[in-house]
Amino acid sequence: MAIQREHDLGSGITEGGTQGAFRDVLAKNHSRRGKAPLHLVDMTDEQRKEVAAQLGMPAFRVKQLAQHYFAHGDTDVHNYSDFPARFADVAKEAFFPTLIEPVAEQEADNGETIKTLWRLFDDSRIESVLMKYPTRTTLCISSQVGCGMDCPFCATGRLGLTRNMSAGEIVEQVRIAAYQCAHGRLPGGSTRLSNIVFMGMGEALGNYKAMMTAIRQISALPPEGLGISARNITLSTVGVVPGIRKLINEHIPVRLAVSLHAPSDELRNELVPMNKRFNTTQVLDAAHDYYLSSKRRVSIEYALMRGINDQAEHAKLLAKRLNHYGDDWVHVNPIPLNPIEGSKWTASKPEDEQRFIEILRSAGISATLRDTRGSDIDGACGQLAAKELANNLVSRS
Ligand code: SF4
Repeated sequence: MAIQREHDLGSGITEGGTQGAFRDVLAKNHSRRGKAPLHLVDMTDEQRKEVAAQLGMPAFRVKQLAQHYFAHGDTDVHNYSDFPARFADVAKEAFFPTLIEPVAEQEADNGETIKTLWRLFDDSRIESVLMKYPTRTTLCISSQVGCGMDCPFCATGRLGLTRNMSAGEIVEQVRIAAYQCAHGRLPGGSTRLSNIVFMGMGEALGNYKAMMTAIRQISALPPEGLGISARNITLSTVGVVPGIRKLINEHIPVRLAVSLHAPSDELRNELVPMNKRFNTTQVLDAAHDYYLSSKRRVSIEYALMRGINDQAEHAKLLAKRLNHYGDDWVHVNPIPLNPIEGSKWTASKPEDEQRFIEILRSAGISATLRDTRGSDIDGACGQLAAKELANNLVSRS
């Protein structure tokens, strides 16, 4: 459909990086590969109405489309009993272009974990992971194709950053998973997708604008959104400080998760190259400010790597750094690294994991060893996509 994309999908990772506080933080491997087709999710209200007018449809039809999309997750306009059949094909094409298609799926945990590799319009690959727990169902989604953060232990980091995803591409992962949950894709029959974590491929705060557009439409109630509470959305960042500060001003109560992985600048410079741009003090200051403003405890993600960042001295220093800001503002999630093939970075010994947790707890820091859901299905972020690219898997269609 012929309306111009007025907004930029980017967020400050545009070429050149000449202005704004974090214009160039991801610029290194970033190359533009065109933009995804415009989708209902990407359009403002005015744009939606403009498209409707171009199709000769009254404006109120837009609300019907949004209602079916967000409340029922159905993009087959022919199924809409209240929608004129003569507009069905053009409306589908204009508002619901196919943005993501499944290429491969892997299941684990008796079917309670499903990892999907998706193909995007430009043949890029991203992935999402659906996980059923006793009290919630969580979807882990991607926000960029690849990632430019270059963490040496991470499969996605090895892929580099290809491009930002559009809000439509981000929300489509959620809409499809919500539909699958409602239609019994997981064991135990119909269930409700309750939680979203931005912990798949990419640095969500590096794709700020599309991420926020997506979050608003994931969290709003139908017909404005999918109705998953913002409180059940977790935004993971490697520590893009200006992005955290910008998020504070959104006043939307998502949970912030900071991938710290090391308690000192010396070690973090090695594990998380972004630390050379925004150091641990700046990151923790911003994370604590987010806590003060949102009143939501911040999660600290910490991938435990054998002999590298998992020793008693690391746990003690981490506790000291976190306690510097006071009590009960943070929750630490150490997670055993799910190693990628051929990597020198490997998972901690169980006894070291245990000691790490105990040191944190005895220092008054709340901490839970995160489970490694899907570790038997290439659960490390980006790993399925990396493997698929390596094997040059043939697509299904
Ligand atoms: S660990 Fe996260 S931030 Fe680092 S390269 Fe991987 S996806 Fe990017």
